[in-house]
This record gives sequence, C-alpha cells and structure tokens, in this order.
Amino acid sequence: MVERLIAGGYLRSQRVIKAMLTVPRHLFVPEDLAAQAYTDEPLPIARGQTVSAPHMVAIMCEALEVSEEHRVLEVGAGSGYHACVVSLLAEEVYSIEREPELAELARKNIARAGCCGRVSVVTGDGTLGYAEKAPYHRIYVTAGAPEIPQPLLEQLAPGGRLLIPVGTRLGQRLLLVEKLESGEVKTRKIIDCVFVPLIGRYGWKP
Ligand code: SAM
Repeated sequence: MVERLIAGGYLRSQRVIKAMLTVPRHLFVPEDLAAQAYTDEPLPIARGQTVSAPHMVAIMCEALEVSEEHRVLEVGAGSGYHACVVSLLAEEVYSIEREPELAELARKNIARAGCCGRVSVVTGDGTLGYAEKAPYHRIYVTAGAPEIPQPLLEQLAPGGRLLIPVGTRLGQRLLLVEKLESGEVKTRKIIDCVFVPLIGRYGWKP
C-alpha cells in the first residue's frame, strides 16, 4: 500500500512514510474487511461512517507538515486509524468524535494496535473544537463542512495550519488554512474530495 502511495505521488516525506508503514490498517477495519485493509479505498466501520482512503490520509499528513512538538486536534476519530498515524508525527493528538460508539471503537483500536503515540479520544461536537487543550499547532477535520467552523479558527495557534473539506454534502474542496503570526488567515485549495458530512452546531444539521 505504501509503495503504491509513493508511486502515486501521495507520500513524499520519510516521517509520514514511516508512520504509515508502522500502523496496521487491518486492525482498524471490521474483521470481515481485513483482506481489503491495504487497498486504497475508504471502508465502512459502523454508524454509517468510514475509515478514509489511505491516499487521503497521506495527502492530509503531507499537507499538514506535522512535527514532533505539535499538539494536534482531529475532528472525527472514526476508527482511530488516521489519529494513530498522526500521533507518530506529533507530540500529542486530541480527537473528537460525535458518535459515542465510534469514540469507544477508536479507543479500543488504538489500544489494540499498540503502536500509536499519545492520542486522547473525546466524545463531543468537534465543530466546537476542544477548548480545554487549545491552542493547537495543527487541526484537521475528517468530515465535510458547509463552512469553516469559527471555533476551530479561534483554537488554531498563530503559525498553525488547519485542514478541512468544505463544500456541499455531496462533494467538497480540501482547504488548507494557514494562520500567520500576525493573525492573518490564508486559504488555498489542496484537492477535490468527498467526505461524510460534519454534523454539529457549526456543521450540517443531523
Ligand atoms: N479519521 C477517521 C478514521 O481514521 O477512521 C475517519 C473519519 S470518518 C470519514 C468521519 C467521522 O467524523 C465520523 O466518525 C463521524 O461520526 C465524525 N463526525 C461527524 N461530525 C462530527 C462532529 N461534529 N464532531 C466530531 N466528529 C464528527
């Protein structure tokens, strides 16, 4: 899988390559789908949600440029796979998941994988961010939003990066938002994408 992601141009940096080689994706998907765990496709988990395709995890890790002193916020823990990969790049990861069943699944998967760094999974509405541990050097959202939730911008540290799919429920543009030291915000599109909807106060209605 990793060789194909490198050949496809999705993976470039040695740290991200090493992290993706380390995390066993088959431990984050339902047992009956384990044989498909290393194909480049999203897979269903529970509650109608998915673990993102490996190329999307690679694109997001590369665009975020996470380093080992970073505190990272993930919105949408799902299976815990993406958070586990990022935890090997960062100092610590806080991941918010709105579905209690999935938050529990992510905690269980992360413990079982035994290779993740410091990850705390919190149940709640991630469109509100997680003020308790703000500010964050990096924030990324793994569900599609109608617009950028203001609390996430507020909880992003100066010099920080926020990655979020923004668009309709059917298709989005993955946006990279950089907050300069001056507080000014610059946004650019990375790629077109399709994520499950971000449901919450600053997201879509349930
Ligand atoms: N990162 C996950 C992984 O590695 O398995 C994939 C996440 S899945 C594409 C998107 C997740 O976002 C779902 O688990 C969904 O329940 C969650 N979600 C949607 N709206 C949310 C919100 N407001 N706060 C937190 N999680 C949310």
